[in-house]
Amino acid sequence: MTYTQGDISQQLVDTSVWSDQDLADHGIPVFDVPFVSVGGGIGSFSMVDTLRIAGVTVDQIRVVSDLERPSQTYEYLAGNSQIRTDHRLRSDSSSVIDCIWGWPGYALREAWGKKTPSVAIQVFLEPVAADYYTPKAGQVYESINREAARISWSQMLTQGVVRHVRRRNHGDYFVLFTPPTGSASTKRIAFRTRFVHMAVGYPGVRFLDDLQQYRQQHNDYQRVVNAYEPHDHVYAEMRHRPCTVLVRGAGIVASRVLQRLIDDRDQHGAETTIVHLFRNYPTGPQGKKATFRRPASKGWVYQGFNFPKAAWGGQMRDHLESLEGKDRRDFIDAIGGTNTAPRKDWREQLDRGEAEGFYLQGRGQVQSVVPSPDSRQIRTVVGGGNGVPTTQYDADFIIDATGLEANIEEHRVVMDLLRHGGAGKNVKGRLDVARDFRVRGTDNGEGRIYASGSMTLGGYYAGVDSFLGLQYAALRIHDNLVSAGFGRRIGPGRSISQWWKWARNTAL
Ligand SMILES: Cc1cc2nc3c(=O)[nH]c(=O)nc-3n(C[C@H](O)[C@H](O)[C@H](O)COP(=O)(O)OP(=O)(O)OC[C@H]3O[C@@H](n4cnc5c(N)ncnc54)[C@H](O)[C@@H]3O)c2cc1C
Repeated sequence: MTYTQGDISQQLVDTSVWSDQDLADHGIPVFDVPFVSVGGGIGSFSMVDTLRIAGVTVDQIRVVSDLERPSQTYEYLAGNSQIRTDHRLRSDSSSVIDCIWGWPGYALREAWGKKTPSVAIQVFLEPVAADYYTPKAGQVYESINREAARISWSQMLTQGVVRHVRRRNHGDYFVLFTPPTGSASTKRIAFRTRFVHMAVGYPGVRFLDDLQQYRQQHNDYQRVVNAYEPHDHVYAEMRHRPCTVLVRGAGIVASRVLQRLIDDRDQHGAETTIVHLFRNYPTGPQGKKATFRRPASKGWVYQGFNFPKAAWGGQMRDHLESLEGKDRRDFIDAIGGTNTAPRKDWREQLDRGEAEGFYLQGRGQVQSVVPSPDSRQIRTVVGGGNGVPTTQYDADFIIDATGLEANIEEHRVVMDLLRHGGAGKNVKGRLDVARDFRVRGTDNGEGRIYASGSMTLGGYYAGVDSFLGLQYAALRIHDNLVSAGFGRRIGPGRSISQWWKWARNTAL
């Protein structure tokens, strides 16, 4: 059989286990490296940072990514959802993604850097006498860049898009990727590796079905937008003329979008009317009183972070580790779900908006989204059934702030792992990982595949899609790798000497 040199054939795609000869027959160059991280975002960064601290050298690690900097995708998504560099994120002071020791936290660094002790004091008062301290986005990006330079990130980075992670017939794996156009003389390159780490983030932006349908049917991608895609033109137009905007969603991104809309009213004289549509409308405390309770009012469920703090390192983490099947899923749903941070400034804005009549709330199930009769606006019809009358809202724009794509099958490499690599789904339909973040069913001889990030939600750890969760996963994976003879244990001696190097910004 003849193949296009350097490219993959359908026959190879259909073959679950590959041999060295298969790749040689296809003219695909193969390079050996013991550890490959796929993704190159914050999850990969956290993993590689831990390994470098554990003594793994640059030549033993490759990160295959479409990014140049680890925080690039994060910055893109955060920027679109209206978190600019001088805005505060959601995680706490000790979720320091650039420092596995968690100290000094972002609050102390900010207090020291800007000579403002009040932010450090806030940490002692939170959450009772003050809102939780949360770092500014720009501060987090800077800290990641600094640490990436220190651990020689760019030397480990291989630009490319991974297409397949496949078992090799004599153990280990092939990570096959497409290098950027024009950068190589071959269409595909492969790493032959013992350990693979998957940290590919979200498969893509998720749209509510009715909004997706409207966009496609009416070819209207300008007026119905997702909060995670670029949509600054919406705010620009609202500053020019009085508009009505309908916002859907009740999580942290909806909070940010509402803040942006009201800031534009306050600071730029925008005359925007906001209709905020809730599908569920809790009005009183949520959860069991004896075990877990969180406040809710006017449709919002309030919680400092997306999970309670104890889910990251306290009794909730231990409890979750002991649960299987439906119990695990139910527990994750009970402590997570849609919620937002109870920030005083956000509440003040919404109360003022309600009193002045520019912030209106609606509730119910959406029946249809169609152009208004004169086609100048978009009509959302809500409610109906069980004797409830329908309500309709006409708006100039609709912002979908309900979330990111969560179906792991949308991700080509993950789907390939499910089909050919022995991977399975967990109780929440994501990638099934063990307590040490090994992807169950994918071992190959000495080879192991690990995964961290949002695609593993539903496993034995709740806060997987967070800075602290990514660090926790990295440490668990590191422990497992050490038991397989890769890297050194980070005991007290190494920990102290490495922290000192970190503090002095000594290159590794
Ligand atoms: C708007 C927003 C705000 C957040 N705020 C916080 C916060 O305040 N605190 C907190 O703790 N957490 C926060 N998170 C959650 C979490 O920390 C981030 O989502 C984090 O970026 C997750 O890291 P990741 O590596 O899993 O994904 P990413 O950082 O998105 O990186 C994954 C990368 O993999 C790449 N990739 C995918 N497939 C392939 C492939 N086949 N080949 C090569 N590359 C590929 C993607 O392009 C992407 O660049 C936030 C998330 C979002 C979206």
